[in-house]
Amino acid sequence: MGVRQEVDASGRTVTRYIKKGVRDFSFGQTLGEGSYSTVVLAQDRQNHKEYAIKILDKRHIIKEKKVKYVNIEKDTLNRLNDHPGIVRLYYTFQDERSLYFVIDYCPGGELLSVLKRVGTFDEECTRFYGAQILDAIDYMHKRGVIHRDLKPENILLDAQMHTKITDFGTAKLFGEPKKTEEKSGDMPPIGAGEVPAEERANSFVGTAEYVSPELLTDKNACRASDLW
Ligand code: ATP
Repeated sequence: MGVRQEVDASGRTVTRYIKKGVRDFSFGQTLGEGSYSTVVLAQDRQNHKEYAIKILDKRHIIKEKKVKYVNIEKDTLNRLNDHPGIVRLYYTFQDERSLYFVIDYCPGGELLSVLKRVGTFDEECTRFYGAQILDAIDYMHKRGVIHRDLKPENILLDAQMHTKITDFGTAKLFGEPKKTEEKSGDMPPIGAGEVPAEERANSFVGTAEYVSPELLTDKNACRASDLW
């Protein structure tokens, strides 16, 4: 929801909560293309804040049978909405043709590009990024999410070159969603005790280069596979 201050008929200033839509943003350059989406830089017309907006073509998503993955991504991002190490989803809306996910803009691009540019990270740099990524994984697991496809392409960098994990389309969610999760996307934290002990998550997803040993031997992904 967006917030707008208005003056009512009696001259009082009132706060109105308005669902954001396409017309609330001005769209800029394309930041990247995925198999099912285009990510565009956008600015909120009201407060001039910059966001990345992921635009998905509804017909294409339905034709390619990817509706399930789009929903997983949205539900997961709604669960993981208050950690600086995870790309945050602010608003979702749609028009006749497309779905729109308004997320944090990460001007630093993908960690993979930085890694390719510098060749290898030294120990200090590895510790710096390692600590941030581990902290985000810990948060994710405590909230009942296994990412299942963590790799340098799925780690973006913000303006301060801090990491933000993205691409939750193949994530596995544990624990029953709270009623509030579906309504507002504002879910209270799931304590470690509430997350069921390693449910099986055994449909193969991920990327060959990063497959963990247990995924190859047991055909199931668990929290440890994210750490691998
Ligand atoms: P695929 O769907 O094929 O796996 P993908 O997951 O990379 O590809 P998107 O998430 O749609 O697809 O992202 C497309 C590209 O847009 C990414 O490669 C990245 O460079 C860029 N991008 C994605 N999210 C952001 C963001 N929040 N800020 C800046 N650039 C982004």
